[in-house]
Amino acid sequence: MSVRVRIAPSPTGSPHVGTAYIALFNQAFARRHGGQFILRIEDTDQARSRPEYEQHLLQSLAWLGLQWDEGPDLGGSCGPYRQSERLPLYQEHARQLVEAGHAYYCFCTPQRLEALRAEQRRLKLSLGYDRHCRDLPLAETDQRRQDEPHVVRLKMPLEGKSVLQDTLRGAIEFEYGLLDEQVLLKSDGFPTYHLAVVVDDHLMGITHVIRGEEWINSSPKHLLLYERFGWIPPIHTHLPLLLNPDGSKMSKRRNPTSIDYYRRAGYLGPALRNYLGLMNYPPPGEDEKFTFEQWVASFDLAKVSLGGSVFDLDKLLWLNARYLREDLTDAALLGELKNWLLNDEHLAQLVPLMHQRMETLGDFMPKCAFFFARKVECSPEDLVPKKREAQEAVQVLQTVLWAMEGALPFNRDAVEEAIRKVSEFWTWPIREVTGPLFAAIMGQKVGPPLFESIVLLGLDLSRARILDAMNVLGGLSKKKAAELEERWKAATPSPTLLFDLGPGVAQRNRTVED
Ligand code: GLU
Repeated sequence: MSVRVRIAPSPTGSPHVGTAYIALFNQAFARRHGGQFILRIEDTDQARSRPEYEQHLLQSLAWLGLQWDEGPDLGGSCGPYRQSERLPLYQEHARQLVEAGHAYYCFCTPQRLEALRAEQRRLKLSLGYDRHCRDLPLAETDQRRQDEPHVVRLKMPLEGKSVLQDTLRGAIEFEYGLLDEQVLLKSDGFPTYHLAVVVDDHLMGITHVIRGEEWINSSPKHLLLYERFGWIPPIHTHLPLLLNPDGSKMSKRRNPTSIDYYRRAGYLGPALRNYLGLMNYPPPGEDEKFTFEQWVASFDLAKVSLGGSVFDLDKLLWLNARYLREDLTDAALLGELKNWLLNDEHLAQLVPLMHQRMETLGDFMPKCAFFFARKVECSPEDLVPKKREAQEAVQVLQTVLWAMEGALPFNRDAVEEAIRKVSEFWTWPIREVTGPLFAAIMGQKVGPPLFESIVLLGLDLSRARILDAMNVLGGLSKKKAAELEERWKAATPSPTLLFDLGPGVAQRNRTVED
């Protein structure tokens, strides 16, 4: 049987270096074993998925030199490769489970689930669905589902254990009794991740699932689904995560996590790909600089080490410098510079911002330099408005970040609105918010229009600069950040989807920041 592996990213934000890392290892495994590497788009979260993120993801992976054999752009024999185009398949499979008595229709309202959760919290019980609808007769539920909103839930065994055989970790046991009755199909007819991933991995002939360790806790649900469908599960390998220097899971609050950041800050795709090949994995020879082909020739998943690698920006920088100096001729470097930002398309975006701010042509480059810089230097004096404290300014910058993350689509007006929200939240005059931001983004107190500049720099580079500025002012402690986040969220509520997700969604084990 030929090896088939896949990545299944969700197009819900800027493509993450963690996705590239998992993709790289999947591609290497496929190449080493003469198999196929599939790219499937998990866009079942209707509220957060966007086609432009998918586009962006494909471009970012291609920039790194990754190449898939089947995918939404290439097609293939197991399409469609976008889950939103496969809904009838999930619905049929959910119905099959219901008819076999392995799943059931649940009519509990958001209000009931919220009250249940509140009660469980009050009694300090673990949160989870109380199986209220589990034993309703099928004849009754078939009647009710004609006109009542409902989801489909997986019946978990009441006792016993599930055993995951992970190629790197050996057997991992889970008590069924501790697992929630997972929603499989949401009230909008879309599957949850758990149903879709199993149905698709099976129908696409996936032989090996190689994914991040954050999915380990989901595996018992997946294994149960394989069993209920009567299918043989793929072989599972959960790769260790990438870490921040302090050992915590790599997050955009500490490190730039978006592939785009690295491209925009002037790194080379092959250098970043080489660097990711060193994450939790030894170099193929003496040198830590190697080609993909050298790496693949001796690729073996058994060499993955479980410790967790720190994503070290200094080391990446060192490697990138070697790629620039050793691998590029002058002509090739010129080509890279043009492809990057020294091209008409990018310069044409800068010209209108500069047009009225120049006395001679010689003013253009110096005033625009911050658009091309990997980072800018800013002084504490410029970051703190008069009569304000440094810690206050740090907190304001933090809320600017959160506000900008909610600015969708990321355009001038959305950025302006985000910054106004921050000024209202702190009751600070807008100038006291924009002043420090000029310094953080441009390294200078005045410059081209701020909102447009932020949009052109992009969210990822802007975020990195704001974080650098916060660090110049001493940073924000975890505790302060958590308190502030609570206040900020209370002041700027965003809608939740209680009914569709159900208590089980916590099992997805993802933090909001990712
Ligand atoms: N959609 C999941 C992700 O975003 C896929 C996890 C898996 O590989 O099963 O990573």
